[in-house]
Amino acid sequence: MPIVVQKYGGTSVGNPERIMNVARRVVATQRAGNSVVVVVSAMSGVTDNLIGLARQVSECPTDREMDVLLSTGEQTTIALTAMALHSLGAKAISLTGAQAGIITDGVHTKAKIANITPRQIRKHLNEGYICIVAGFQGQTLQGNITTLGRGGSDLTAIAIAAALQADHCEIYTDVDGVYTCDPRVVPDARKLDVIDYDELLEMASSGAKVMQSRSVEFAKKFHVPFEVRSSFNNNRGTIVKAELQGLENVVVRGISIERNQAKVTITNVPDKPGTASRIFTALSEANVIIDVIVQNVSISGSTDISFTMNLDELEKLGGLIDNVAKEIGAGEVTKKGGVAKLSVVGIGMRSHSGVAAKLFECLGAGDVNIQMISTSEIKIAVIIDESMIAVAAQLAHDAFGLGVEKAI
Ligand code: ADP
Ligand code: ASP
Ligand code: MG
Repeated sequence: MPIVVQKYGGTSVGNPERIMNVARRVVATQRAGNSVVVVVSAMSGVTDNLIGLARQVSECPTDREMDVLLSTGEQTTIALTAMALHSLGAKAISLTGAQAGIITDGVHTKAKIANITPRQIRKHLNEGYICIVAGFQGQTLQGNITTLGRGGSDLTAIAIAAALQADHCEIYTDVDGVYTCDPRVVPDARKLDVIDYDELLEMASSGAKVMQSRSVEFAKKFHVPFEVRSSFNNNRGTIVKAELQGLENVVVRGISIERNQAKVTITNVPDKPGTASRIFTALSEANVIIDVIVQNVSISGSTDISFTMNLDELEKLGGLIDNVAKEIGAGEVTKKGGVAKLSVVGIGMRSHSGVAAKLFECLGAGDVNIQMISTSEIKIAVIIDESMIAVAAQLAHDAFGLGVEKAI
């Protein structure tokens, strides 16, 4: 029998009625002649509420206990979903990440999957059960509960689909698929019928939270094509798969935005070997992910270095950057929140020129000031004032003709 893995996100299981809706869809998939594995997220808002609770009892909860706490969100949903399926007369069984055979490393709150042995899933499927697996969680070899980073239920679904060599992997969410830009920001964004792993990976890692970026990376590595679609209707979604012939004809596939960024500038950094390394080693030891980095031309032996990161991460760093700046004999450190990143993504950029010029032109015409620029083979990103991000997204979306049927 074909194996189908379906993942339902937080909004899709956000209340008892929606869990019943999911149960009905799952039963229909089984009745159509499939073995079904369902991965569920915590009900919407639950993970954030748990984080809030932790902060009320401790300023600095340990990552191990955070994982024990956060994993309860998904555990609630698997039990409720199994009960909903029972009430429809279906055979269903809930499984935690550990019971589903998901073994991770020990990096709490952002653990990586080390291997999956879905023995229990296979056994239950063979007995005719629908398996309901808790997303976002796993277990170390020592038996500690871990979580896979925010949005990690996507990764659970893709990883289980890979391990079971599933015939279909479907990611059900609260929009109809992957759009040319977040449809809540750009109202005329268009749903894409198909997108390449690399493009979705760039979009996801630059703020398009429709898929967790690590899950897309995993799908690419283990060749798991999947479909992103809505749990609220039966519309076809977006197929995500390896590059197709013809995809390169579309220069820009989509635009993503990332709010809540911060820009740090260190002035008068001595222009000699090893100083950049001192700064960024200190930040990496603090487990901070640095995004865009710009170093100015050296004037009389010193230079300015600016970089961006998530504002929340900056707040956790305290005086670390100031201390490093002092140690290397640099000048002032300025830290500024209220910036955001806009990224224009498309594998066609590999073979077409003019994308940067067009982006800068449309932003300039719209009076949006660019503070920093970074590029990759298939992406151009700019850092701008956060208050301008929705306007800028719409300007770029229009300039690249993404809202109309055929993108340029
Ligand atoms: P789930 O709870 O199902 O995992 P998420 O909230 O994590 O869902 O992701 C879905 C949301 O992602 C959508 O509601 C949408 O606002 C947002 N989003 C951001 N960028 C895009 C995009 N390019 N296409 C579709 N949705 C996007
Ligand atoms: N519940 C987790 C989160 O909110 C995982 C997920 O929803 O994918 O990040
Ligand atoms: Mg999600």
